[in-house]
Amino acid sequence: MSAVRVRFAPSPTGALHIGGLRTALYNFLLARQTGGQFILRIEDTDQKRYVAGAEDYIQEALSWCGLSPDEGPAAGGDYGPYRQSERRETYQKYTQQLLDQGRAYYAFDTPEELNAAREAANGTFKYDALSRGKMRNSISLPAAEVEELLAKNTPYTVRLLVEPGQRVYIRDIVRGDVSFSTDELDDKVLMKTDGLPTYHLANIVDDHLMEISHVIRGEEWLSSTAHHVLLYRAFDWEDSMPQFAHLPLLLKPTGKGKLSKRDGQKLGIPVFPLSWVGATPEENLEGFRERGFHPQALLNFLAFLGWNPGTEQEIFSLEELTTAFSLDRVGNSGARFDFEKALWFNQHYISQEDIEILAPKIRQALAPWADEESDARLYQIARLYQERAKTYPEFRDQLAYLYTTPEGYDEKTIRKKWKPERQAQLTELIESYRAMNDWTPNSIKATTLAFMEKNELGFGNVLPLLRNAIAGTTSGPDAFEMLDLLGKDPALERLEAAVKLWSEQH
Ligand code: GLU
Repeated sequence: MSAVRVRFAPSPTGALHIGGLRTALYNFLLARQTGGQFILRIEDTDQKRYVAGAEDYIQEALSWCGLSPDEGPAAGGDYGPYRQSERRETYQKYTQQLLDQGRAYYAFDTPEELNAAREAANGTFKYDALSRGKMRNSISLPAAEVEELLAKNTPYTVRLLVEPGQRVYIRDIVRGDVSFSTDELDDKVLMKTDGLPTYHLANIVDDHLMEISHVIRGEEWLSSTAHHVLLYRAFDWEDSMPQFAHLPLLLKPTGKGKLSKRDGQKLGIPVFPLSWVGATPEENLEGFRERGFHPQALLNFLAFLGWNPGTEQEIFSLEELTTAFSLDRVGNSGARFDFEKALWFNQHYISQEDIEILAPKIRQALAPWADEESDARLYQIARLYQERAKTYPEFRDQLAYLYTTPEGYDEKTIRKKWKPERQAQLTELIESYRAMNDWTPNSIKATTLAFMEKNELGFGNVLPLLRNAIAGTTSGPDAFEMLDLLGKDPALERLEAAVKLWSEQH
């Protein structure tokens, strides 16, 4: 196989959708696996849809995930420039070539004329072999008139001449063989009146000049591919045409319908890698990073949206993905965007993180509460809670009790576990705690066990009440560790307050 050169070619029209990041990942994996090149190309020729900041967003999202391009606007490379807006002359040159060879033509129709044609055809208008004779272009008009229009700088577009009655075959690594009849295809605009190419022309010219070997992109581009094959033919580049792989759609968490950009806001889940600050607060978008995800967890999750290794293994580092990935194992049915699964991956990656790396993240999640905590204490907290949080901000919810008095208690547990005799019993326990000289998880445990034995109480009678009294919840790690973390004085104070309140109320 000749050298693998793959490109991720996003258009900077806003925040990069999570499906775009999956495309980047699959491209990256193929490049790394084969020792090939991963190229970032910014497809910014549509000035109407261009959004400032979107390119930076793309670069930052890739770098957060560790998907660094080998070539691109920032990385440089021998095939640049890598921004299409900087390649105008190249597109003009190749457009001229198609015009000279009669494979493309000038179209002078004004927007009003095109609208009129659309209206006359009741929405079924197609600029093609059947209709082009009735339009104003260099095929329908006499040569002298065309010369004159051009001489007068009349605005024009350049369209691809699509010959009717032919079949276009596409061999897609994911979808198998797909074919289209050229009768279904219109004479696509290649060059717009502003002198900038359309996506189709720029994409093909660049893939050719950048010697791209595989085009891996979302399924929504499959229907454009027929025109792309025709363009390769028009340029006589068919022999070096890249291989295509169209990735399956991402489906809503319900599995019904395509995951849309708006689903994030509607469902309260991120569908973008990073947060995006919109022009108005309603346009703000939440990112996986800001939601508290580890980039590796996001990549592991995304890898499985369309691909599977054919084994039971679910946890894959980026290196392991690089070895295991194969386009042959990418399915063609839609992949359900299951946010719960993403959380599951994230919990796993947090639980495996080195304490030295996790602790500062917990400190940040607890800001400003934990700003002054010693490293040793933060490590203790991190070890104890490491497996309990699905995202980094969850550490804040779970550890708030160390810094603020709980605002309420888990009432269900009190109703179930509280008995009038608990007042005297727990008062006795509090006094035993007070008499302790050292306050460690082990010593707290020993005192508590002695108390339980004496009063013939089991763990289930005591621990839920202790946790509830100090943290306002019955979930959490080892109760003796929690008491230790909180510290003796605050612990005794909270226990007393809870016993007082519960005996009054129940
Ligand atoms: N510029 C296209 C996009 O925005 C890229 C399609 C392709 O990869 O060919 O996704």
